Amino acid sequence: MAKTASTIDWRDERYVVPDRPAIPFFPGDGIGPEVMAATLPVLDAAVQRAYGGTRAIDWFEVPAAGRAVAAGLDLLPARTLDTIRDHRIAIKGPTMTPVGSGHRSINVALRQALDLYANVRPVRYFPGVTAPVVNPAALDVVIFRENTEDVYAGIEYANGSDHARHLAGLLRDWGARIPDDAGLGIKVISRLKSRRLVRAAVRHALDKGIRRVTLVHKGNIMKATEGAFAAWGYEVVRQEFAGRAVPAGDLPHGTPPPDDVVVVDDRIADAMFQDLLLAPQRFGVLATTNLNGDYLSDAAAAQVGGLGVAPGANLGDGVAVFEPTHGTAPDIAGQGLANPGSMILTGALMLEVMGWTEAGTRVMDAFAATLRDGRMTRDLAAGRPGITVLTTGEFGQAVARRIG
Ligand code: ATP
Repeated sequence: MAKTASTIDWRDERYVVPDRPAIPFFPGDGIGPEVMAATLPVLDAAVQRAYGGTRAIDWFEVPAAGRAVAAGLDLLPARTLDTIRDHRIAIKGPTMTPVGSGHRSINVALRQALDLYANVRPVRYFPGVTAPVVNPAALDVVIFRENTEDVYAGIEYANGSDHARHLAGLLRDWGARIPDDAGLGIKVISRLKSRRLVRAAVRHALDKGIRRVTLVHKGNIMKATEGAFAAWGYEVVRQEFAGRAVPAGDLPHGTPPPDDVVVVDDRIADAMFQDLLLAPQRFGVLATTNLNGDYLSDAAAAQVGGLGVAPGANLGDGVAVFEPTHGTAPDIAGQGLANPGSMILTGALMLEVMGWTEAGTRVMDAFAATLRDGRMTRDLAAGRPGITVLTTGEFGQAVARRIG
């Protein structure tokens, strides 16, 4: 694609964003169109207020998901993929995974085609939301979940299949004890992919002034995969971040690290789940493998009141796709009941990654203020007294009005 004044660039590991970037979006399925419609005006208002009209986003919709299929196109047309790749930053609503239709899900296709290797979820509490723990505000973490390997690579053999029999035979030759009725799955964790995930997590901590990165793994049991993930993480910290980040174990005993240095340590995954509940304030960025990250990010989101208030991003090198953490919720689609909070916060995260932090912060502050005012959608209100229950669109308007 020819570079124009509206094209976002990627140089020295950073996005270079013009004053009027063109950003592709697609609303997705189910409640997607409603939450997207509620979100874009909030983002526009924040950009307008933050930069006094000198910056603005030129949104343009690209065909994908249900709308594309209705127009006789593929679920994720090749041109849409090219457009996202060329524009580098895109935002999408939740999309349905077609069951048994032979299509890969849009998210899997995007992740593979664009090599979006880091699934990023900031999790924090917003006052006004009902949470199941006593002090939800103590949790404020950003989870970097490796998005491309681990047991999700789909290398699985059903019990009784020729492949399972063959593989089990090979493994038995090597001394492994495998029952005849076992299905087999392979866990793949590579050096390159572990290193780039931890690199992205440490960079994020440095950018945001977060002082601690914790590598979460199950290396006490799975040494060659989970253990290696942690070892490679420390390796990249030592090799590439000298003076800016340090493995906790490399600090001379009893010496606190200098103020601007990120300390990298590690936790066994099961202990991490306890720590998140018992001492959440101790943690900043968590970097972890795919399966751990899947569990951990939903558990952390639940701790602060659920997926409705957690944004999401899928980051690659020089390309990023932002999406809310909930699904399409077909049961409430089209009724104005959907909470656009996750989508709005996802937009704030997008602005931050673009380097438009002033606008991103305004979105988050306005969202928090709206909830503090006791104005929220039905799911968050949960029948509590003194709450004004708003529709999806009304909530979006209320947040936009609260932009300071
Ligand atoms: P998918 O199959 O796309 O994952 P889903 O509906 O099975 O969709 P979720 O989207 O995670 O999975 O939703 C589970 C339930 O939570 C929904 O049925 C809906 O009632 C509720 N829900 C999810 N997202 C929202 C939202 N943004 N606002 C309000 N309720 C929501």
